[in-house]
Amino acid sequence: MQLKLKEQLLTQNDCYREGRVLKPQGVMVHSTGVAQPDPQVFLRGWNKPGVEKCVHAFVWKGGAIQTLPWTTRGWHAGTGTTGRSANNTHLSFECCEPAGHTYQGGTMVDYDVKANEGYVQDIYRNAVALTARLCREFSLDPLKPGVVICHREGYEQGIASGHADVLHWWPKHGITMDQFRRDVAQAMAGGTEEDEDMTQERFDQMMEQYLAQRAKLAPADWSAQARKWAEQAGIVAGGAQGQRYGSFATREELVQMLSRLDQLLSQGQSKK
Ligand SMILES: [Zn+2]
Repeated sequence: MQLKLKEQLLTQNDCYREGRVLKPQGVMVHSTGVAQPDPQVFLRGWNKPGVEKCVHAFVWKGGAIQTLPWTTRGWHAGTGTTGRSANNTHLSFECCEPAGHTYQGGTMVDYDVKANEGYVQDIYRNAVALTARLCREFSLDPLKPGVVICHREGYEQGIASGHADVLHWWPKHGITMDQFRRDVAQAMAGGTEEDEDMTQERFDQMMEQYLAQRAKLAPADWSAQARKWAEQAGIVAGGAQGQRYGSFATREELVQMLSRLDQLLSQGQSKK
């Protein structure tokens, strides 16, 4: 399935207005840390001066919304224990969390894993698709260490503040960041981002259908004379499906036609 990506830049946010340049060398995954599945709530809250944070995109159930130009430096990682910040290197997006839970410190309380399974699958698929798209656009290798990381991993690597996202959440659904990186790489290699429902069997069915449709196309007037000749000479066989003029000829049909033509020519010669 294709990622539904739209643009809604946070032009009133101080980070956007500052407009420092980012040369993307990685992607950092965040989650908002609040039970709010509607991205518009965040967009409204962040699209004004005095908000000390800004990411490049929000991932929600229905797709992704770009909120900063990809080459503008974001405010999402704070500063890590090394004194460095992923703000200088990484693109960033927030994943919207489902409704229903609360927080005690960095821990989710009353989080219903079973009820949220479908929601998280949608979020995960969109997060994979967005990250794959960004990695492709900026020639990033998601499997290289430090390229695709979450906020928590950034903290452990000393380049982000002490937050737990998304490792306080995704592992409840059996998702690891290693799995995420593999799925991003696979989406980049196999094009599964574009249409994950496509199988060989389904492609074959669609091809059959396409060929059947083409075969039914009515031929144009300009070929009328040639068609009449070919039909009378028995070069194009009709049969139950008609002459199928809009269809492609197989190599088998081609040699059959040539053979028939050869017979006609020999007959012509023998009459001389
Ligand atoms: Zn974060």
